[in-house]
Amino acid sequence: MTNRVTLYDTTLRDGAQTQGVDFSTADKQRIARELDALGIDYIEGGWPGANPTDDAFFAAPPVLSNARLAAFGMTRRSGRSADNDPGLAAILSVAVDAVTLVGKCWDFHVTMALGVSLEESLAMIGQSVAHAGSKVKEVLFDAEHFFDGYKANREYALDAVRAAYEAGARWIVLCDTNGGTLPHQVRDIVTDVIAAGIPGSHLGIHCHNDSELAVANSLAAVEAGARQIQGSINGLGERCGNANLMSIIPSLVLKMGFKTGVTAERLTHLTAVSRVLDEVLDRAPERQRPYVGESAFAHKGGLHVSAVAKDPRSYEHVDPTLVGNSRHIVVSDQAGRSNIVARLADMGCSLDDVRRDGLMAVVEQMDAGFDSREVVDLVDLVKRLEHQGYAYDQAAASFELLARRVLGQVPSYFQVERYRVIDERRKSAEGHWLTLSEATIRVVVDGQSHAEVGEGNGPVHAFDVALRKVLTRVYPALTDLELTDYRVRIVESTAGTEAKTRVTIESSDGKGNVWVTVGVHTNVLEASLEALQDSISFMLYRISQQ
Ligand SMILES: [Zn+2]
Repeated sequence: MTNRVTLYDTTLRDGAQTQGVDFSTADKQRIARELDALGIDYIEGGWPGANPTDDAFFAAPPVLSNARLAAFGMTRRSGRSADNDPGLAAILSVAVDAVTLVGKCWDFHVTMALGVSLEESLAMIGQSVAHAGSKVKEVLFDAEHFFDGYKANREYALDAVRAAYEAGARWIVLCDTNGGTLPHQVRDIVTDVIAAGIPGSHLGIHCHNDSELAVANSLAAVEAGARQIQGSINGLGERCGNANLMSIIPSLVLKMGFKTGVTAERLTHLTAVSRVLDEVLDRAPERQRPYVGESAFAHKGGLHVSAVAKDPRSYEHVDPTLVGNSRHIVVSDQAGRSNIVARLADMGCSLDDVRRDGLMAVVEQMDAGFDSREVVDLVDLVKRLEHQGYAYDQAAASFELLARRVLGQVPSYFQVERYRVIDERRKSAEGHWLTLSEATIRVVVDGQSHAEVGEGNGPVHAFDVALRKVLTRVYPALTDLELTDYRVRIVESTAGTEAKTRVTIESSDGKGNVWVTVGVHTNVLEASLEALQDSISFMLYRISQQ
């Protein structure tokens, strides 16, 4: 049996049915291109005739170099012939390499939902597949509710998939539509289906994640002999989602010895593909996503960090670079010296480089509320700042700036000399309440003083607008800077009595780079401005290093 597993992505069809997801045609084309470049074999573009977006997508489909484009739809309706069914005709009218038809395999669904006889349903499957096969290169059959159907009436479920197979379907895809099946059941049932006459080389699996087992079930099906897996980027899909290809692909390739269209080189783009979907959906990437999440290879405990520094295999199941991710040594109050040493090493520095005068200068500039002469070294400084409320494990960019400032590697790109923010609430001419903020700032750049005014829907926004009016004149690249997330927390300062506010800002340069900065102050505006200024400085520093 071949060890090549075919990958079929349904992000644009099953994924598009997710609550809160509304892809534009351009979004769909972008995602399709990413999947194609990754090495996915089939891309299901949508359901022709079901909605205007899908029709527009198929009217001008993206040019694909590896993948085959598939259109999804239903078998013919009861009481119509396959060549006279409008739904089927819509699916067959678009230019695609493959058509995937879904049909019922659960006797209860046939009689209850469709309200047709069991024989008629089998005829609907067979005739639709045969008719589609005469129009397109390849037909796939999605066997809806196959596992539930098999449990209820094994013979009928097998008859349904046989009807599709005998009518010429290239792939019979067993669907765990309700997502309730367990891995050992998937293994047993797939084994039985193969024994009943559908070869594994023609058998696929389509799992939903309602029992949090979609990935495990997909792998179990492949172990039992199935050779196609259907899933989506990041497991996007209705309810609890579809099988997550971002986890399935590396497990298949790196751990089970299977071949897919995703070569070792393409696998290094996996993390980027996962982030593209988040970007399209305007969602913050889930940190704990296996393989591709920001925290998937993050080490925080001091003991872990020192072991990882000696040999990463001690606390990592795979090498993060294989999937395009990277190791993060988390800096935190809890962790020991080894974290900070390891992070500095990542930056190409050592603790010995850190100079005492640099430390003192930075402490004085930060106005952090303690005497610079008390600070022993960078580790000590980080601990003291975390006592003040800073959280560097979440804000890697602020940590890097802090360390590089101590090392004298980051110039002061700008200094805000003074600012004033005015908030106003008034009624508009139409009688709606309006809240407007206006910031007036004075900034020194390259020894030159600039004054500017900015308006925004809040004080931080107004400040950002004013500051960037000045800075983009000197640093045009800052036009691309986007603040993608803004979080505020009240922190109990362990050092003093007053409660402080911690602001964390996530920024992006629109090219896939994301960084997080932090600011702490009793005044929420001050904390925000500190995080904002760090974000800008970090981007400028990165650009200067390119
Ligand atoms: Zn599905």
